[in-house]
Amino acid sequence: MSRCNDVQEKIARGEALSEDQREHTTACASCASVMADFSMLEAALNAFGPAVPTGFADRVMAHVATEVVTPSHTSGRWVSLTLAYAAGVVAALNVASFLARVFIASVAFGGTP
Ligand SMILES: [Zn+2]
Repeated sequence: MSRCNDVQEKIARGEALSEDQREHTTACASCASVMADFSMLEAALNAFGPAVPTGFADRVMAHVATEVVTPSHTSGRWVSLTLAYAAGVVAALNVASFLARVFIASVAFGGTP
């Protein structure tokens, strides 16, 4: 039981398994599924990894730093809150018009209103 914990913790930390731990993952269904999950996750991360431009994290952190340094811009905060609210209203209207189109289409195809 503790062997499974050891093996699964090692897999989660991305550490290399010893030879007998490797053998255990082929014999133990629980550890094998953990191994499969993490190898899929790793493959997904590798697939999406190059999509993030180099220096992206640095630019985000620099932006966050300037935001933190100037916290007195309350007017800018209100503008962004208003924009967020407007975006929410637009999204709601989009959903409503989509539902209306679907409903009207189903009526046009012979459904009863
Ligand atoms: Zn196991």
